[in-house]
Amino acid sequence: RDRVREILSSVEERSDNRLGVEAMEIFDAYGIPTPEGAVVDDPAEAEQIAEGIGEEVVMKIVSPDILHKSDIGGVKVGVPVAEVADAYEDLVSRARNYQPDATILGVQVQELIDLDDGVETIVGSHTDPQFGPLVMFGLGGVFVEIMEDTTFRLAPVGCDEAAEMTEEIDAAPLLRGARGREAVDIDSVVDAVRRVSQLVADFPSIVELDVNPLVATPDGVRAVDLRLTVD
Ligand code: ADP
Ligand code: MG
Repeated sequence: RDRVREILSSVEERSDNRLGVEAMEIFDAYGIPTPEGAVVDDPAEAEQIAEGIGEEVVMKIVSPDILHKSDIGGVKVGVPVAEVADAYEDLVSRARNYQPDATILGVQVQELIDLDDGVETIVGSHTDPQFGPLVMFGLGGVFVEIMEDTTFRLAPVGCDEAAEMTEEIDAAPLLRGARGREAVDIDSVVDAVRRVSQLVADFPSIVELDVNPLVATPDGVRAVDLRLTVD
């Protein structure tokens, strides 16, 4: 709690009130699992981090000026360790091409989550002027706007309410294993929704939050991409 308060108040003091990778620490504090990884600012360091993670990693540009990273080719999934240094340069040059004056903080090197038996879900929140903080759950990924398969509750929610949310979206059968697919660990999905709702209820200064995707697999969940707006 105290650590989260510290991070949030440091954000309130700066001109840019949005948080991306820095929010990973907030999630850690609230017991919401995030992938292994780090943000680095040179290719050699990227390689070093990747070696500690596995044979292949995910790499993403980190810039407050780039909100939708994959739209500009700012996400590389499944980069072999030997190609990490080149991938670093490529990500930075793509960002520069997209916006020459973009502030580039570095590159995030992240554990590759196996999506073959995973489902990309979304957990979000915004503050309704009348009702206060709401928590949202739905099908996630890069096509979330097209699918619009989401459900809302007032935050915070308990386990029962969070479980209901996972049952009432159209994609619910996908989570429970369809067509020979293994079911995802639904209890950890429910737990993540509950914890996110508690976070936004505890900190009213978080006016908007998006975890997209929260990857759900048979082994648990990982909050892979975070966006948080503080007011
Ligand atoms: P953005 O939403 O800004 O484009 P994301 O971090 O959400 O960036 O990455 C885009 C997509 O890349 C995700 O929806 C997911 O399909 C894939 N992806 C991102 N990180 C990982 C990861 N650690 N493991 C596996 N797939 C990932
Ligand atoms: Mg995303």
